[in-house]
Amino acid sequence: MTRPDILMTAPMHPAAAARLDQRFALHRLWEQDDPEAFLRSHGAVIRGIATSTLYGRVDDTLFARLPALEIVASFGVGYDNVDAEVAATRGIVVTNTPGVLDEEVADFTIGLLLATIRRLPQAERFLREGRWPHGPFPLSPTLRGRRVGILGLGGIGKAIARRLEGFDVAIAYHGRTRQEAVAYPWHPTPVALAAACDTLIAILPGNAATRHIVDAAVLKALGPNGVFVNVARGSVVDGEALASALEDGTILAAGLDVFEDEPNVPPALLTSRNAVLLPHIGSASEYTRAAMGALVADNLMAWFENGHALTPVAETRF
Ligand code: NDP
Repeated sequence: MTRPDILMTAPMHPAAAARLDQRFALHRLWEQDDPEAFLRSHGAVIRGIATSTLYGRVDDTLFARLPALEIVASFGVGYDNVDAEVAATRGIVVTNTPGVLDEEVADFTIGLLLATIRRLPQAERFLREGRWPHGPFPLSPTLRGRRVGILGLGGIGKAIARRLEGFDVAIAYHGRTRQEAVAYPWHPTPVALAAACDTLIAILPGNAATRHIVDAAVLKALGPNGVFVNVARGSVVDGEALASALEDGTILAAGLDVFEDEPNVPPALLTSRNAVLLPHIGSASEYTRAAMGALVADNLMAWFENGHALTPVAETRF
């Protein structure tokens, strides 16, 4: 059997890479002495890409150099790192890894929410810095009595909502469309959702339509007791408006796993005492990253075995 040539753009879970090595001629772009020269010499034979947010954007610039490209298998459910619309016009299938990370990211979001409201990282720093003997850690805000708005009630949003039901808090949501099968109140705009809540969790895709969907008006509507948690993408919030809102008390606190220019974090957030900042680790357990890697490999194998990707993104469901 011929071994199709696959380009891996950045390191991926080792088990996935090992499976791909067995079935394909796998080329690790980051290991090439001269990646540009590699693309010039091998670009014509590459039929598949395995990529992730660790690599820059996979777009027309790269597609134009890979004339035999059939499929881009992206690691992660968010695929804003791939220009899927242009891929569609070129007949290239794009796949992502939906479903296998929902429960993990939902667990994580609850952890970040509680850490932000009860100020757990600040309390731990207080203890480690030897300040406890001088007096107790200040009282924190609470989750009790909160009204939580979920911005993007998809696979992960619903898994978060299921968990929140156990915390006995009110739940509402916003998406472009009201979901008939969902009993939580729907609000037609992000501002309306924020106005009806005091806690806002963003878990929707990052794309042109959602860029800065959480802006100064949404943060103002959330109010001075407001807690904003972003586990979506950094692009969904206006970073400057958020930093100001934290600084001037427009909102109470923020828990952020994602940033607009990762891995760079704005200095205003780094110095904010009411923000909990994490390095984009929502799905980053060994267990779940292995499952995501397996789905990347399964998509490539299914495509080259029977011409059907398992989880193509909406733009490329040919
Ligand atoms: P889904 O596709 O299942 O759900 C997305 C939800 O967002 C839908 O309910 C959709 O509702 C809503 N939505 C989409 N576009 C808009 C819009 N323009 N305005 C308002 N709502 C919108 O995705 P997942 O739940 O699987 O994942 C969501 C996102 O979470 C991913 O795209 C990714 O960016 C991020 N993520 C982050 C992780 C991390 O490590 N921090 C890990 C995993 C995911 P409707 O169609 O009705 O608008």
